Amino acid sequence: MSQHSGKAGGLVDPHAFDVFEFARSGRQAAGAVRVSQLPRMLNEVPADAPDRDTLFTWQAEGSTQPELQDDGTEAAQPYLRLALHGSAWIECQRCLAPYEQSFDVEAAYRLVATEAEAEEFPLDEDELDVIVGSRQFDLVDLIEEELLLSLPLVPKHEVCPQVHESLVSGAAGEHASDAGDSGDDESEGEDSVSGALDEGDAGKPNPFAALEALKRGGGEGGNKH
Ligand SMILES: [Zn+2]
Repeated sequence: MSQHSGKAGGLVDPHAFDVFEFARSGRQAAGAVRVSQLPRMLNEVPADAPDRDTLFTWQAEGSTQPELQDDGTEAAQPYLRLALHGSAWIECQRCLAPYEQSFDVEAAYRLVATEAEAEEFPLDEDELDVIVGSRQFDLVDLIEEELLLSLPLVPKHEVCPQVHESLVSGAAGEHASDAGDSGDDESEGEDSVSGALDEGDAGKPNPFAALEALKRGGGEGGNKH
């Protein structure tokens, strides 16, 4: 009953392929899925998003690595690597407007045959996930799972458009002349702005200082890539 469904070469059906065979023969595959094919991801996309059906590209690669067995012999065990790139529109939790979140996921999995085997598997590497493979493996399911896991805990703009505008019109106008004097060091100017506001209004929470902090936090994240 060796069913070799007649698919030759690099072609795989991402919804149903033999992932063990894929790994053992070191195959590679690539493709694209749309958010509309991923119902749980689509749930995250607000109705007023500019594009509700963005695209993710994926690459998958199978391989084997020798592992020591209980009986002392080595056997080649199946592995799968997955890379995902793309973006989806989700709702900013700060201003409630949709924004485009990019996704860049790299994941590696050790394939096992059963749930029981997955639970027993000794995990000494955090970067490696253990998943149950199948001869009718649904890679699109795995892709959706990885995208959901990659969603930010609190999705938000790096700088919300509305908040940013009010900040600029409130603070920059007042200090335009000061900034001209001290010229080349912008961050020094910003510090003195928030410092002055802190002193003037010590008892109350300072909205500008809070926004500055948010701006800096967002900026750090955004500068990574
Ligand atoms: Zn926002």
